[in-house]
Amino acid sequence: MTVSVGQPKVNKDYHSVVAPKNQTDKTESYAMARYAVVEQPQASYGTPPEFTTLKRIASRLQAQVKQTTRLTNALHEALTCVFTELATLAPNIAADWVLMMLMKYPTAKRIAAARLSSLTKIPYLLPEKALEIQNAAKRTVSKQSSELDEELIQDLVGELQHSLSEEKRRKQLLVKAFNALPKGPHQRIATIKGIGDQTAAAIVATAISIDRFETDRKLVGYYGIFPRELQSGVDKFGRPIPPGKKVMCKQGNDLVRGLLWQCAKCASAANGGNPEVRALYLRRLEAGDTAMCAWGYCMTKLLRQVYGVWTTDTDFDPEYEARRRAARQAAQQADRIKGKAETEVSGHKDVSGSEETGKVVTNTPASMEPVSHSDDIVHDDPSAGTVQAEVAPTAARPLIDFAELRSRISMADVLTKMGYSFRVGAGQHRGKCPLHDPSVGRGKPFSVNFKREVFRCFESSCGCQGNVLDLWSAYRKLPLYESALDLAKTFNIELPDQRRSSPRKKQKKLGGHTPPTP
Ligand SMILES: [Zn+2]
Repeated sequence: MTVSVGQPKVNKDYHSVVAPKNQTDKTESYAMARYAVVEQPQASYGTPPEFTTLKRIASRLQAQVKQTTRLTNALHEALTCVFTELATLAPNIAADWVLMMLMKYPTAKRIAAARLSSLTKIPYLLPEKALEIQNAAKRTVSKQSSELDEELIQDLVGELQHSLSEEKRRKQLLVKAFNALPKGPHQRIATIKGIGDQTAAAIVATAISIDRFETDRKLVGYYGIFPRELQSGVDKFGRPIPPGKKVMCKQGNDLVRGLLWQCAKCASAANGGNPEVRALYLRRLEAGDTAMCAWGYCMTKLLRQVYGVWTTDTDFDPEYEARRRAARQAAQQADRIKGKAETEVSGHKDVSGSEETGKVVTNTPASMEPVSHSDDIVHDDPSAGTVQAEVAPTAARPLIDFAELRSRISMADVLTKMGYSFRVGAGQHRGKCPLHDPSVGRGKPFSVNFKREVFRCFESSCGCQGNVLDLWSAYRKLPLYESALDLAKTFNIELPDQRRSSPRKKQKKLGGHTPPTP
């Protein structure tokens, strides 16, 4: 019999929902039992004994990182009273030279009175910067600078310096513990270009075993690294943020996130030795993302590479994906020569697997395909093959711009047409599946994301997923090409001809074929 170790945080949260106003042994045990019976949580993973030291050091390090953040914020706040302008002159207030300067000259008044020659004696403080800071200190708008303020700043600076050195020490300890682990596939992570020993150690200390993650997406999800679209707000300069601007989500393990952030910067550099991350970085910049956001995508990419080398127990190979792409292209070429692939259908299929969609291809070798992102690929229409065989490649059927057609019909339109009821205006929908026999399975397996215009059925015997076109195709039991024609006819849409525009460009612009949210 397996006994699951309860997670205190989850139990507590569940309890606060079940019995928000009482906290007795009775309500707590009821909440725990109810959680186990209703939610049926997966068995939790125990930590193998050889990993416990590493894990403990990692959590101590994480606590220290949090402490550093807290102190940095406190220093920022204290500085607004004594030297407001410093925040714009020193982007990183926790940098060594800033702390050293503040230890000696804690307020604007003291900096203004200091001799320039003694300011420039501080390591890494360049003469131009020192002059700039001193000039700002002379003109500062901050009024407060009593002796007490000075003492407070020095106190905070001292604590922050201590916290930073402690953080450094614990990072070294973490690497030591990582190197002391018994040999295993986790050691491959450090071979990825851009990921150092520290990050590899932190990832192993938090993930422990890669077997916990069925797919690379789950690993990425575990660390909570997603670009998120902003709808409102202002940036740090007070300028309104245009809607649709993307920032990185701030969830998940902040130790790993912070380390991966540095790794993404290294790996995306021209000499970073990680061509795939570099290429992704440039692609995101070209697509109009900020460097910050592009690095966010690079972090995701790095995690996928981690998944690849860890599951397959092979060293990182920077040329791996390029080779795989070439092989895929060669296979497609061969298909085309054989006349098997009909232009429009393969054109559509192409989109789902291509990188044009902004989707990242994993570093997972072909043998690992079932657990990598291949399950995200939506089209597996067995009937498509028969249609292809029936019709000659150059048949006079119109070429369909699938992306254009998709962009003109919404998921809500199609579901309404199918007579399926859902709440209008909601971003997400969960309910009965319109595509499989309702007597099979139970619950609400059918999930629709109206924002991304995708759907998915979680009933294993059904498993339908995709975009509007896939939905119509499954509903009408027609191959993709025919269902596109049928869909256009049903909604009275004049079918756009693919020949008029470059399909690839268009699909990129429209976001192409995105996989559904799990
Ligand atoms: Zn279904």
